[in-house]
Amino acid sequence: MKYLLVTPPLTQLNTPYPATTVLKGFLQSRGHEVAQTDLGIELVDSIFSRQWLAGYAASCPNPDERQYLTQCSQTIGAVMRFLRGTDNTLAPRIANRSLLPEGKRFSQLADMEWAFGTSGTDDKARYLATLFIEDIADHIRTHLDPHFDLIRYAEHLASYAPRFDELHSALQAPLTPIDTLSLSLLDHQLSLHQPRIVGITIPFPGCLYAALRFGQHIKRHHPGIAVTLGGGFPNTEWRQLSDPRIFDYCDYINIDDGELPMLSIAQLLQGSITPDQLVRTFTRQNLSTTSFASLPSSPQADFTTQPAPDFDGLPLHKYLSLAEMTNPMHRLWSHGRWNKMMMAHGCYWHRCAFCDTSLDYIGRFQAPSAATVVDRMEHIMSQTGITGFHFVDEALPPRLLADVCREILNRHLTVSFWGNIRFEKAYTAELCNLMSDAGCVAVSGGLEVASDRLLQLIDKGVTIDQTVQVCRHFRDSGIMVHTYLMYGFPTETLQETLNALEVVRSMFDEGIVQSAFWHRYAMTCHSPSGLNPARYGAMRPDTTPNPFCNNEVDWLPSQPIHSANQSQPPQFDYDIEEVGRGLSLATYNYMNDLGLDQPVRSWFPGLHFPKHKKHHSRQ
Ligand code: SF4
Repeated sequence: MKYLLVTPPLTQLNTPYPATTVLKGFLQSRGHEVAQTDLGIELVDSIFSRQWLAGYAASCPNPDERQYLTQCSQTIGAVMRFLRGTDNTLAPRIANRSLLPEGKRFSQLADMEWAFGTSGTDDKARYLATLFIEDIADHIRTHLDPHFDLIRYAEHLASYAPRFDELHSALQAPLTPIDTLSLSLLDHQLSLHQPRIVGITIPFPGCLYAALRFGQHIKRHHPGIAVTLGGGFPNTEWRQLSDPRIFDYCDYINIDDGELPMLSIAQLLQGSITPDQLVRTFTRQNLSTTSFASLPSSPQADFTTQPAPDFDGLPLHKYLSLAEMTNPMHRLWSHGRWNKMMMAHGCYWHRCAFCDTSLDYIGRFQAPSAATVVDRMEHIMSQTGITGFHFVDEALPPRLLADVCREILNRHLTVSFWGNIRFEKAYTAELCNLMSDAGCVAVSGGLEVASDRLLQLIDKGVTIDQTVQVCRHFRDSGIMVHTYLMYGFPTETLQETLNALEVVRSMFDEGIVQSAFWHRYAMTCHSPSGLNPARYGAMRPDTTPNPFCNNEVDWLPSQPIHSANQSQPPQFDYDIEEVGRGLSLATYNYMNDLGLDQPVRSWFPGLHFPKHKKHHSRQ
C-alpha cells in the first residue's frame, strides 16, 4: 500500500514538523511504501520567489505598491538564499540597509545598535531579512488572501470552533489564489507518488483550513485516494465530534498516535480487517446519521521498539532560519534546522492540573533505552547531515537524559540539543554539567504560576526555591533556560500574579533565565482541572459537548464574584486582560535586558491595586 504523508500549510519555516517522519519510519518497517511532503515550506518557497512576486506585483493596481513589490521580486532570490544559509556573503549589504526595499515593518524599527552592536552583522541581517519577508506576507494578507500568515493559515477559523458552520462556509467559498497555489503543489505530489492513502497531519489550528481544503480537493478530483486526518488538533479537539459534515473532507480521522490507526486503514483497504476493527479511527457510518464508530480501547504502538524517524524526501535545503527577536534563547524556535525527535513517549510526571494528562500523548509514559535513543539520533544525523536535536518530549525524564548524555559521550558524538524539562531537584550541578558536556545548549520548563501556593494546588511538583536553584545550575553549566509561565488559574489573586512577576523579574536580573512566555490558563476537558474543577475552586457551567471542537471549556469560580456592570459573570475580581498585557510587556522587556529595575506594578498602569500591606519589597 502506498501512503503520502502531508504536513499542510503552515507550521514552521525552520525545520520539518516531526509527525510525518515518525509515521514514515514506522509504516515502512511494516512493509509499506511511504512518501512525505511539507507543503507549508513548499508554499513559502513558491510564494517567496522572483516569478511569483513579479506576477503579484504586475497585478497590483496601486503604482507605489507595484513598484515596491517589483523591487521585492528582484531581491527575493538572494534573500531566500541568505535565510537558507547558502549565501552568507549577503549579510553586510542587508545589515547596512542598502539592499532591501523597506515596507511598513521597517518604519517601526528602533535603533538597532543596542541590540546587535557593530559585530553582529549576520544576526542584524537575518533580523532585517525577516522583517522584509514579514512585510511581504502582510501585503498578501491585506490585499490577496486574508487567511495568509507565515506560520499559520486561517487560524482564526479553527481557534475556537464549537460548531463547524463558519469553517464549512469558508471551505465552500471560491478558492483564494493561495488556495489554488497550495492545491497545485498537492497535485504535483499526488502525481509524483500516486498514493492510495493520503494522511494529513493537523498539529495546530493554523493548519486545519488547509488540511480540509486538501481533503476536499482529493475527494472531488481523486476519488480513488483515501484521506485520513490526524495529529494534535484532532487528538485534543475531536474526540467528541458529532458533526458528520467533516467527512465531506476526509474518510477517516485518527485519534492518538497515528501508527496503528494508519496501519489499520491499509488493512481495511486490503480487505484483511472489517471497519469495526479499525484502530482508534472515526468514520462516517452512513450519510444520514451523525453517529461515529466508537473509539475502541485498542493497543498502541510500542514507542520503545519503534524505528527511527525517517526524514527522507523532505526538502531540507528549503527551510529558512528567521530571527523575530534578538533574544538568543527565543531564537532557537525559528533559527536553525534542528532535527526534531522524542526521547521518550508521554510525561513521566503526568499530574499537572492544567495539562491533558488523561490523553495518551501525555499519560502513557514509555522510555526506550539510552542506546536506542542515541541509535535513532545517529540514524537521523546520517540522513540529514545535521547534528542539532530538538527533543520535543513533554518533559525529558532526567534519569534517561543522564544515560543518553553518557551514551553520547561514550560514542564520542558531537551534537547539540535542547528540550523541555521539569525544574526538579534531579537537575543537580553534576547532571547539568554532564548535559552541557554532551551538547545540551538550552532547556525549557514550566514555572507556571510562580507561586508556591498555586504550584502546590496544580500539583506541579516543584517549588520556586527549587526552580531557582536548578536554573542556577543550568546557568553555571552554560545552558540557556526558557520558562513557561501561566496566569489566571482559578483562585489566583492579583497580588499572587504580581508576586509571580517579581519572581520572574529577579530570575532575569540574576541571569538564570533568558526567555519566558506567559500563557493565560485555559481549562481543557482532558485536564485534571477540567475533569474535577471543584478541587481547584472552579465549576463548569455547561458540560454538554459541542458538535465540532471540544477542548477548552468555560469555567467560573466556585465562589461567585460580585459584579455590578458585567453581562457575563467574571472569573476574577480584577481585569485579567490588563494583567495579561502587563505581564507580556514586562517580560518582553526583560528578554531584551530592559526594565529590570522598574517596580513590577509599573507594568500595569490601568489596574487599581487594593490598599493593603506589601507582599514584596520591590512592589
Ligand atoms: S505540564 Fe508538563 S510536567 Fe506537567 S504533566 Fe504536563 S507534560 Fe508533564
